[in-house]
Amino acid sequence: MKENITLFWFHRDLRLNDNTGLYHALNSSDRVLPLFIFDTEILDKLTDKTDRRVGFIYSALSKLQQEIAAVGSSLLLTHGKPVDIFNQLTDRYSVEAVYTNHDYEPYALVRDAAVADLLKNRQIPFHSYKDQVIFEKQDILKSDGTPYTVFTPYSKVWKQQLAIQGLRFRPSEKLMSNFYKTATLPFPSLQSLGFEHSWTGFTEPVIDEDVIRRYHLTRNLPYLQGTSNMSVHLRFGTISIRELVSKALAWNEQWLNELIWREFFMMILANYPEVVEKSFKPKYDFIVWRNDESEFMKWCRGETGYPFVDAGMRELNETGLMHNRVRMVVASFLTKHLLIDWRWGEHYFAEKLLDFELSSNNGNWQWAAGTGCDAAPYFRIFNPWEQAARYDPDSVYIKKWVKEAGTPAYATPIVEHTYARQRALEAYKKALNPL
Ligand code: FAD
Repeated sequence: MKENITLFWFHRDLRLNDNTGLYHALNSSDRVLPLFIFDTEILDKLTDKTDRRVGFIYSALSKLQQEIAAVGSSLLLTHGKPVDIFNQLTDRYSVEAVYTNHDYEPYALVRDAAVADLLKNRQIPFHSYKDQVIFEKQDILKSDGTPYTVFTPYSKVWKQQLAIQGLRFRPSEKLMSNFYKTATLPFPSLQSLGFEHSWTGFTEPVIDEDVIRRYHLTRNLPYLQGTSNMSVHLRFGTISIRELVSKALAWNEQWLNELIWREFFMMILANYPEVVEKSFKPKYDFIVWRNDESEFMKWCRGETGYPFVDAGMRELNETGLMHNRVRMVVASFLTKHLLIDWRWGEHYFAEKLLDFELSSNNGNWQWAAGTGCDAAPYFRIFNPWEQAARYDPDSVYIKKWVKEAGTPAYATPIVEHTYARQRALEAYKKALNPL
């Protein structure tokens, strides 16, 4: 006799509180078995077997397992292709329904569609909910029904809509007694998944009210703790976006705008998936990049001889994170000073960033290269020396990451600023005005 269960499939929503799909699952049944799949389609592509993101997810899952075990249930942690896993689970249990939250990245859409098909063939209802964002791709449109491609008018309507609709919290944490009662199920080790636990990384998402209240004053200063550090938690859903937005509304509008930038780029990727490969503004695909590989390697390693750029790249390599101001400067430097295709930099960030998010990474790289929607005009080229003087006047950040800066041991600049700026202007002009 197969046991009746309802499955809740965790994606990138690794929390028990205010989780929309989980709330609906627990409301519909008192036999909800929570499931997470370590997807081999994703894991097999990660060449670095000490990838910090896998460590983060694993730590977040271990914490979930403890919380779920405390109510007499268990997380079912599996490893394989999602379609195969669902085949096995629907053979083993009598699955009454599957609940999950929407996931918008191109691969996730394909994966979820395949699972939806399989469940449909087996006559199992599949329910998916908006959870990761306040507004998704068709929620905020221009009066002619097309998506916004400029941030400011988008953000205005976003705020108006929020004022009308309000935040819809879903207190899934109050329904935990409806998890399926079972002894703890086997929990595979990270090693058995082919990864090493080089870094446990998980820290509770703690929102510092003082930091947020002062955010507009400190957000550009990389030597301070002047931003929220919420990007990793938003990436994996260890915090609810509704919780953050409610705090932003109370504490700081500038910070709210950053949360809206996140949704703006998600909306752009969902409506214009071609941006993954192409410039949002097609004529920018005519830029003739220099793409010098040895210069690219120096940029990756933080050996360009520009201390602010090198500090950022070394911070990224060492921690998996980089301050936003510095991300803007290193991206501008790669695309403008070195004339290297923004896609090279984007891919490097995608490999290294703990908070890697396809939409934000792509959107910001295209912004920095001048090729994206609502991007910085191409002729506005950051001067890395001026950026450092303005945002790290005492070189505190630089000295933290580039110990040898200012000594004879430090690299000489890879290219001279004024010359590089002129070269970039000419390359961009040529692409935009052929002949
Ligand atoms: P805070 O400044 O406290 O902001 C709060 C939240 O708002 C962030 O956690 C993030 O979710 C969102 N946010 C802030 N700035 C932006 C922005 N410019 N675009 C979109 N959302 C934003 N962010 C990612 O989450 N993933 C990426 O892969 C990513 N790649 C980037 C690549 C480049 C070249 C640049 C210039 C920026 C990139 N960003 C990316 C945006 C930004 O740098 C990070 O979100 C931010 O540094 C994270 O720190 P925080 O959580 O303290 O942010």
